[in-house]
Amino acid sequence: MTPEPHDHVSILLVDPSRADGTVASLRQRFKVVEAATVVAALKALNLVRPSAVVMELTLPDGDALAICREAKRHPAPAAVLVTTAATDNVPNALIAGCDGVLMKPFPPNLLHTRLARLLHQRALRVQQKTWLQHKKLSHLKERFQATQTGTNLIWAETYCPSCRLGHAVSFDATSHRRLWFACLVCRHVWIAKVDGSQRAALRNLSGANLYFSPG
Ligand SMILES: [Zn+2]
Repeated sequence: MTPEPHDHVSILLVDPSRADGTVASLRQRFKVVEAATVVAALKALNLVRPSAVVMELTLPDGDALAICREAKRHPAPAAVLVTTAATDNVPNALIAGCDGVLMKPFPPNLLHTRLARLLHQRALRVQQKTWLQHKKLSHLKERFQATQTGTNLIWAETYCPSCRLGHAVSFDATSHRRLWFACLVCRHVWIAKVDGSQRAALRNLSGANLYFSPG
């Protein structure tokens, strides 16, 4: 099986002693950003927001685990894979929240297998978080309906094109019978043509025309 390229996936590689082959093989599948120190890695973490961090524990300027802890503080934490020959430091890495450890030296294919597994698990975690947000949204929706005084309408079956969740809120229309929608979860705003069920619902609303002038 040929592995699929993940051109859109950014990997932060923090390892001044990395083998040339490691970098080359990672670049075949990922967008690779490199850092050689803790300071540079922390900066890159916040700038790039990588999907995964591949890191050595022995770095010239101090506490490498600060990188791991910082990565795990992000809203969508990167998967952290530690690659090292220093077994003594591994427990601390695990406590700091690293997701995997690959003992050096390792063949590149092992690195890819491990990374693929971690990226897959990370994707599941992000998905689960989206589901939790969806649950939170139903509370938001109740609150929203309770305070609804204007012309905003919640559409359970209208899905956000950005995050794919339902319960989009229409808040206005354009002159061409299109509605403005907002997603309260990801804050995306878009315009879409009124569909059949929306047209019917709009017709049934008391107080007649919320959005469109008659005729
Ligand atoms: Zn959304």
